[in-house]
Amino acid sequence: MKLHFLAAGYGKNSGYLVQGDSWKVLRYPVMCLLIERDNGDLVLVDTGLGSRQAEQFKPPIYCGALFNAWMNGFTKVDLANEALINQLPSLGFDPLKVSTTIVSHLHYDHAGGMPDFPHAKHLVNTREWEAVSARKGWNEFRSGCLRTQYEADGLDVELISTDPRRPYHNFPSSYDVFGDGSIVLVDINGHSPGLLGAFVNLPSGKSFFFTSDAWVFPAGFEKRKRKPRWARAILGEGQEADQTIERIHRTHEERPDIEIVGAHDPRVPGRLNLAPFFYE
Ligand SMILES: [Zn+2]
Repeated sequence: MKLHFLAAGYGKNSGYLVQGDSWKVLRYPVMCLLIERDNGDLVLVDTGLGSRQAEQFKPPIYCGALFNAWMNGFTKVDLANEALINQLPSLGFDPLKVSTTIVSHLHYDHAGGMPDFPHAKHLVNTREWEAVSARKGWNEFRSGCLRTQYEADGLDVELISTDPRRPYHNFPSSYDVFGDGSIVLVDINGHSPGLLGAFVNLPSGKSFFFTSDAWVFPAGFEKRKRKPRWARAILGEGQEADQTIERIHRTHEERPDIEIVGAHDPRVPGRLNLAPFFYE
């Protein structure tokens, strides 16, 4: 088993996503994980912005999400090169070998690539799916989730739930994707209703914990700085988001050897080696 880190594009924004932080512009990645299993199958954790942004954002109901994407610099991404479906072949991977994707949540910058992998099984948290797909009108407009992505024709979506009989580190329940402890998902709700975090445990003993958007910029985790009130209101972030940050902190205190990787941490592409480098 091998683990690769990929940036499926970069955005640019000021520190407005962290309350009281500077407004200096940061360039930050859309991180995804690619796991090569011993049987040759490929697994993605998050699918990035995908290659079909223009058509996905076209319905007027998604203008709110389009504005969000524009604010975050995600409308200027070089999708011809950076969308995973276009990036994988240049790294020597066959996109048809992607058998499973784990979609941490349904925001457009994580679920956008789902339709690029129509042959794969897409794992989504039941709680995320039920809450997001029920949104209509204003709530759908502002949600940042696009049916043109997660309900695209022919997608094989499998809804999963963590098992309360299987606590994992400081999380009360977990979902072992392949039943071998190599990829274990936990609930890190708050930023979205059913946000999933992924522990990836490598044969060498090295582990990574992908925390997706539980926090966006480093101060959100390290200094426990919340987003501004208006941003939390739009995202519906409340007490659950704070509880998730505390659980991640406790895990980090107990197991500092487990490397925490945020989806948009600007430091990740420098701290970790990106594909074609791999960890095993
Ligand atoms: Zn995101």
